[in-house]
Amino acid sequence: AYTMVTGQLVTGGFVIIIAQNWITAGIIALALLAVPNLTYAMLDEAPRALAAANVVLASGCAAIAFLSFLRERDNRRAFGLTVELSRAARTDALTRVHNRPHILRIAEQAMERARQYEHPLTLLMIDLDHFKAINDTHGHANGDRVLETFAKASADSIRDRDHFGRLGGEEFLAVLEGADAREAAHVAERLRAACEALRVSPGGAEDPAAAISVTASIGAATLAPEDADLSDLMRRADRALYEAKRGGRNRVASADDPPSHGSHG
Ligand code: GH3
Ligand code: MG
Ligand code: MG
Repeated sequence: AYTMVTGQLVTGGFVIIIAQNWITAGIIALALLAVPNLTYAMLDEAPRALAAANVVLASGCAAIAFLSFLRERDNRRAFGLTVELSRAARTDALTRVHNRPHILRIAEQAMERARQYEHPLTLLMIDLDHFKAINDTHGHANGDRVLETFAKASADSIRDRDHFGRLGGEEFLAVLEGADAREAAHVAERLRAACEALRVSPGGAEDPAAAISVTASIGAATLAPEDADLSDLMRRADRALYEAKRGGRNRVASADDPPSHGSHG
């Protein structure tokens, strides 16, 4: 009987080491050690020592199962926290869209894919017009509301395969995968018109009926063979944005258009 108990203890030890997952280990150990032992102990000829050993084994298994439960619960919590943290690290705290490092990473990867699979890629560089004046007129908190509302509306209005993020301040980037200059011009024009149509009701002491409106200027650049890396493409989108501003704001300009003629798409 002692040999049997010792053998089972050793086996149980192996099971715990191999199983990794403590709940599984607890359950297997219970089945392997306690059940046959208890059955055996119920036979009349079973020695008292074995019955005592069974009590110890059964309590041990129960303790393992309980510790396993606690450990698994901690693991799940830690995993949840990790997921939450990594999401926070990718998200802009104010607008809840992708933050600068993340949208730039997405753009890099989109550029690699576009080159590899030879599909078009267009970036839209978006900057809200006279935003300083919105802050000055309605206060910084209302400026924040405008940023939030604009970001949400834009992120909702782009296609599923596209990406939208905040580069900083009142500047945003849309990454349009598979969109050539023509298609991107439509998306950009839709974003521009949606922004113009937004009405943000001010908070605080201001009259909520006196809604704040805002417009955006957009520079588009489609990936071309001469773009050595993302910064080349970004630079062209930025130059187009500058053209849109120079052309009178609230408009879309494309890096592929002749300069100084901003258009409404
Ligand atoms: P333009 O049409 O040429 O783009 O003019 P603008 O006023 O939008 O551009 P400018 O760069 O002069 O001003 C940007 C303003 O955006 C200034 C800054 O205070 C404001 N801003 C930047 N980040 C935030 C933010 O997180 N919240 C708020 N409320 N304002 C911000
Ligand atoms: Mg601006
Ligand atoms: Mg700006």
